[in-house]
Amino acid sequence: MLSDAASAGKVRVLACRPEIAELPLYNAGLSTEAVRARYGVSEVTKLGSNENPYGPSPSVSMALGDIVSRLPLYPEADQLLKAEISRYLGAISGQIILGNGSEQIIRMIAEAYVSPGDRVVTVIPSFGLHIITAEAMGGIVEAVPVTQDCEFDLDALHEAVSKPLKLLIFANPSNPVGCMMTGQQLKDLVGSCPPDCLIVVDEAYREYAEHDPSYPSARAILAAQQRPWMVLRTFSKAFGLAGLRIGYGITSDSAVADAIGKVRDPFNTNVVAQIAGCAALNDLPHMENTVRATVEERESLRNALVEIGLKIAPSCANFLFFETSISSGNLAEALLHEGVIIKPWKEPGYTSWSRVSIGTPEENARFLAALRTVLHPSSVREAQEAQEA
Ligand SMILES: *Cc1c(COP(=O)(O)O)cnc(C)c1O
Repeated sequence: MLSDAASAGKVRVLACRPEIAELPLYNAGLSTEAVRARYGVSEVTKLGSNENPYGPSPSVSMALGDIVSRLPLYPEADQLLKAEISRYLGAISGQIILGNGSEQIIRMIAEAYVSPGDRVVTVIPSFGLHIITAEAMGGIVEAVPVTQDCEFDLDALHEAVSKPLKLLIFANPSNPVGCMMTGQQLKDLVGSCPPDCLIVVDEAYREYAEHDPSYPSARAILAAQQRPWMVLRTFSKAFGLAGLRIGYGITSDSAVADAIGKVRDPFNTNVVAQIAGCAALNDLPHMENTVRATVEERESLRNALVEIGLKIAPSCANFLFFETSISSGNLAEALLHEGVIIKPWKEPGYTSWSRVSIGTPEENARFLAALRTVLHPSSVREAQEAQEA
């Protein structure tokens, strides 16, 4: 690797746009390899990024068998994937947009719609990119805190969207909290928005919530309105393809699709991801089985955390958001020494909260054991000593 030191002090600093200079660097967390090297642990349990521990359908590896033959050409399977997505979604109005991860679509939305000074409303704690991408374009973001019970604060949201607004964007179920907005609540909130704003519902965790009868079809609710909207989905979570970077958006109409299309990099999704996405959609039972296993595990882990005496948000996704008596940064660091990666929350007001992804039963057991060691070192030591005696 080239060292920074060689060039430090020689390259003159060119100021970037002030909106960018003020942004924090995105914290994507540590990789398994980095943790192994830095903390000297042999086994690493990665529960920081809400990936699917069971991986994608076996039909993905079948479909990628002769992928090398497709590598010389620019990616041409995007229409194929869009057709598969349409089939999966059932009859829809609107159009489908593909992204190199739905993160890229979030960025394209900000680039296409947010001008300096535009008001953007979201929630806090939040998925960082909902805020960062808007701020990068000069947007003024108002993030509405969740309630004491870690639910959407609907009164505060109604008030926030009753002023002039360019973009309302939030995840349902929310990340990192995991709370759900019901259909009636969504309908009411949409009704409070000015007619000329874009409403974006990020459904990255939809598959984990859709068995719940109160989980709404945001598409159906939004499509009943004469206003612009987008619903975001991803293959990164329930479909187990986070490494490939493929997500999609459904738009209200071709005007929104065209605006996004103008800021889209040509060939923004690659042929491997396109083919894998098609294969994943052709094996829904695999996805549904992994979701069922994860939801079951989530409830056992929730019970175990309650027993430890922690405050836990009411998650209907593939993670739990919980509060401990020590700072989230210290907790995450102590867990890294035990070989466990979780996501410490750093947003103001939530620095004693952390998010843990639901892993396999074995991974969750390792997380629990490490958490007990870290939170109650003396009681664990006493138990060990009692056992040894
Ligand atoms: C994980 C996640 C995404 C997915 O991002 P990809 O770029 O598709 O991997 C989008 N939104 C939220 C809220 C997420 O948590």
